[in-house]
Amino acid sequence: MKEFELIRQIQRETSASNSPGLENGVKLGIGDDAAVLEVPAGHYLVAATDTLNAGTHFPVDTSPFDIGYKCLAVNLSDLAAMGATPRWALLSLSLPQAEPEWVHLFSEGFNSLAKPHKVTLVGGDTTSGPLSISLTALGIIEPGRQLTRSGANPGDLVVVSGTIGGAAHALEMLQAGKPVAEQHLLDRPQPRVSLGQCLAGKASACIDISDGLLADLGHVLRASACGASVEIEKLPQTDALAALEKEKRWSYQLSGGDDYELLFTLPDQHKDWLETWRQQLDIQLTVIGEIESGEGVRCLAQDGSHYHPRGTGFEHFRRKP
Ligand code: ADP
Ligand code: MG
Repeated sequence: MKEFELIRQIQRETSASNSPGLENGVKLGIGDDAAVLEVPAGHYLVAATDTLNAGTHFPVDTSPFDIGYKCLAVNLSDLAAMGATPRWALLSLSLPQAEPEWVHLFSEGFNSLAKPHKVTLVGGDTTSGPLSISLTALGIIEPGRQLTRSGANPGDLVVVSGTIGGAAHALEMLQAGKPVAEQHLLDRPQPRVSLGQCLAGKASACIDISDGLLADLGHVLRASACGASVEIEKLPQTDALAALEKEKRWSYQLSGGDDYELLFTLPDQHKDWLETWRQQLDIQLTVIGEIESGEGVRCLAQDGSHYHPRGTGFEHFRRKP
């Protein structure tokens, strides 16, 4: 199979999930040298891109369906963290072999998320090489509503969606060849797109937790020039984490990555919205701490004593100790 046949297959198989092009503002999609997209009047374009490399971002034997799902999920999570509404995607595929079956399953995984989020694949690039998937997600937002990392202020509540640490725990179990009870947390993270849209205009700062709670909260704190306290007993846990001894659980919750939940800071005056969002979106939202003046994160145990965690999250190119 040749490059162009593969592209035609991708076009055919992902078009099943596409809303009719014109409705989604697609003036020109796959098939020309570039896509032409109509951004609705009075909106900004929001762009995010993420690469998944085999062996680094997913185990080499991961199913094509899961890869198709995840490459879109991680990018929609970035758009969610900005409060944006996803619209379009561009896909760069580097494949060791041109396998129609691989592309078919990949497209199914991609569609399973593109469809509910009304994302249209409008272009990309296809090359041969080591398995690597780069996806660019494009969304829209009304001016001034975008959430950033830099708006947190002392007194704001620190809130996380869902549960954290479950994906890292599942990955470790998987790698150790042990039974994995919560593999869906690793394979099928739910990008919190609706939550991000609710937070726009209310939350003072937002980030998605991809590298671990402490690492990502740290990004918010540095961008906002603030510190924070986190009550570690309040960190939302999964069933599998609940069965672990505390220190072990905390290390997954504080430093494990891949959760793709939102962490946001909420001015106290908006705190009643939490209950509204919980009910409206049927989502778990947990207040885990508070923004303070100063810098860095203070982890507090139930008795108020300081807890000093080891490791702060995943980083590429980190020097070995
Ligand atoms: P060019 O060589 O001009 O960059 P290509 O031959 O790479 O064009 O691509 C032809 C068309 O197919 C373009 O519209 C491009 O966006 C689209 N395309 C190529 N690869 C992909 C892919 N993996 N996913 C979606 N669209 C793709
Ligand atoms: Mg090309």
